[in-house]
Amino acid sequence: MINLDWKNLPFGYVKTKYNVRCYYRNGAWGELEISSSEDINMHMAATALHYGQEAFEGLKAYRGKDGKIRLFRVEENANRMANTAAYIRLAIPTVDLFVNAVKKVVQLNAEYVPPFESGASLYIRPLLIGTGPQVGVKSSDEFLLIIFVTPVGPYYKKGFSPIDIVIERDTDRAAPLGTGHVKVGGNYAASLPAQEKAHNLGYAAVLYLDAREKKYIDEAGTANFFAIKNNTYITPDSTSILPSITNKSLMQLAEYLGMKVERRKISVDELSSFEEAGACGTAAVISPINKVDDRENKKTYQFCKDCKAGPVSQKLYEHFIGIQYGEIPDPFNWVTILEEK
Ligand SMILES: *Cc1c(COP(=O)(O)O)cnc(C)c1O
Repeated sequence: MINLDWKNLPFGYVKTKYNVRCYYRNGAWGELEISSSEDINMHMAATALHYGQEAFEGLKAYRGKDGKIRLFRVEENANRMANTAAYIRLAIPTVDLFVNAVKKVVQLNAEYVPPFESGASLYIRPLLIGTGPQVGVKSSDEFLLIIFVTPVGPYYKKGFSPIDIVIERDTDRAAPLGTGHVKVGGNYAASLPAQEKAHNLGYAAVLYLDAREKKYIDEAGTANFFAIKNNTYITPDSTSILPSITNKSLMQLAEYLGMKVERRKISVDELSSFEEAGACGTAAVISPINKVDDRENKKTYQFCKDCKAGPVSQKLYEHFIGIQYGEIPDPFNWVTILEEK
């Protein structure tokens, strides 16, 4: 294993040895290539650069107590990338191509998968871009799938810590029938003004409402929203939120642990009736929400007592990471154990 200060890794980019690449040319995907370059060479008129023809994914590899490397629901990421690719007219990588490429890049960089004790993990970033030149608005006919990895520190350095978020009404992240349901970089560019404003006001994230009525909760910009009430896990149903794999898994886990699950519209007013609220995604699994501020209406919805996560969020979180790190049996078959070569 490489010698890194595992316990103090930031949540940022650290160079590793290899990335993998696959080119789509003349109507077909080529062989998976191994690269040790951090650069991409492409035409200056590439559609990814001009028209945002770009899809990405994010997942992690975890080293268990037994020393084995685990991937979490990698086929789900493959399917989601295929959906995104289909929507923005990128060439679609098959599930096999995607999964094999993820396995390969992790195996090649196995020495960068942090040790169990550190609480750190290996972040995996697949990127799919249109690389062919176009000046008119048209899909590229050449594409590149590239996957790199980078070790990242535990999201919560001081344990599971609740965040403050703010409702945003001045800008929208995604339109009701736009690209909110697919994982494209453009959604993130569109969210930068609101995120910057929120950060300047001291909030960790923005809570977006549905763009049409500004009445229902969509998501937190980089993470889905959920709430807990009467032993029920409640999460929004909307055409403009990204289907989070963490959220999908938490719904399954909640049901498995004897809770009810509701996926439906959630109005802002309903926030006052929830016992707990959280944001969920690969990066942190669950970020418990301390409070949601609605500045326009001078309202604050408070969830945490003494700045501590609620018991249900705590239980879901511990069970979830227990499965990811192989400490708790995996009744769902979510985990793939990777062979180390
Ligand atoms: C990736 C992403 C999430 C989280 O999805 P996971 O699969 O749980 O990591 C949530 N919202 C948006 C907008 C995203 O891009």
